[in-house]
Amino acid sequence: MDSLENLPEPFGAGGVDADPGAGRTYHVRFSVGEDYFGTAVEVPVTVVDGARDGPTVFLTAAIHGDELNGVKVLQEVATRYRPEELHGTIVCLHVCNPPAYQAQQRYIPIYDQDLNRAFRGGERSTTAQRMAGRIYDGFVRHCDLGIDFHTSTRNRTTMFHVRADLEDPVVERLARAFGSNVVLFGSGSRGTLRRAATEDGIPTITVEMGRAHRFQPRLIEEAIEGVDSVLAEYELLPGRPVRWPGWYEATSGDGEKRWLRADTGGLVEMVWGPYPLVAEGEAICAITDHFGLEKRVVTAPFSGLIVGYLENPVALPGHPVCHLVRIDRETRGEIEREIPRGEFDGYRIHGELWSDE
Ligand SMILES: [Zn+2]
Repeated sequence: MDSLENLPEPFGAGGVDADPGAGRTYHVRFSVGEDYFGTAVEVPVTVVDGARDGPTVFLTAAIHGDELNGVKVLQEVATRYRPEELHGTIVCLHVCNPPAYQAQQRYIPIYDQDLNRAFRGGERSTTAQRMAGRIYDGFVRHCDLGIDFHTSTRNRTTMFHVRADLEDPVVERLARAFGSNVVLFGSGSRGTLRRAATEDGIPTITVEMGRAHRFQPRLIEEAIEGVDSVLAEYELLPGRPVRWPGWYEATSGDGEKRWLRADTGGLVEMVWGPYPLVAEGEAICAITDHFGLEKRVVTAPFSGLIVGYLENPVALPGHPVCHLVRIDRETRGEIEREIPRGEFDGYRIHGELWSDE
């Protein structure tokens, strides 16, 4: 473990890189607050300081404490690249929300604050804002671009996809370099790390991948390949291949996406599939009472792409059952042409880009 003082400029306590030409990996614990006992609450951080100059890239995981796939991605990345071959710096903030992580829940356990609505933070504000501020000012502010890893919340799953503000060409370059086939565009909610950093001129994308409380090896591998590709595109690893997606669908994430909700309690059965594409009026799932007598079918209010769905098969009125994003006729046609080519196979229900089943 390294001490914070040893971190090269401009991180941590602002120590000076003793040997700037050598390149080195630093592992530190960075305090973002304290618990009831006054003990420091610390984020594990790895800084891979390349031997050559280049951009600084941040990677963040577990801003929501139960979202673990990204934690595994960052653990792999921390030892994947040799500082001697790196042109630039990689900063891995392994677990951004330690109290939520320790409780294995989404929000900060005290007052259920959402850390991902608290960026860029503030010193004299809530616990969440103070944590966000420490993370932002300590690391994110000093970076050139970033990738924030998330999963669905518990009992649901989300398709492997990127969220990015594609209207900004600088962000579009990053989103494309990551190489995801599906990108939801939009600036993101106020207070998200992605939006705050992007507004500050640090292009940032969110990667959504699978389920909470799990490591899903296929998705983790896909994400690591995305990181490789981003490092190649920004020449932290010059000469390596950039993985431009063979096909690529950008769909509006603002206003035209909706969680469809159950109107009755009961047992839920998904009927969409095998591909996550539904036409207006088509059945998505059926909710049946325990006697098997009353069946209510949830249909698509518009033609769209299913990007998330409920996995726990019991529902109450108001429970979200399916996350649908509107797509236009042209996009639908393009996806339909990709299906016979096998390009959408990973996205079939229970396919590899949802889960590992
Ligand atoms: Zn999340």
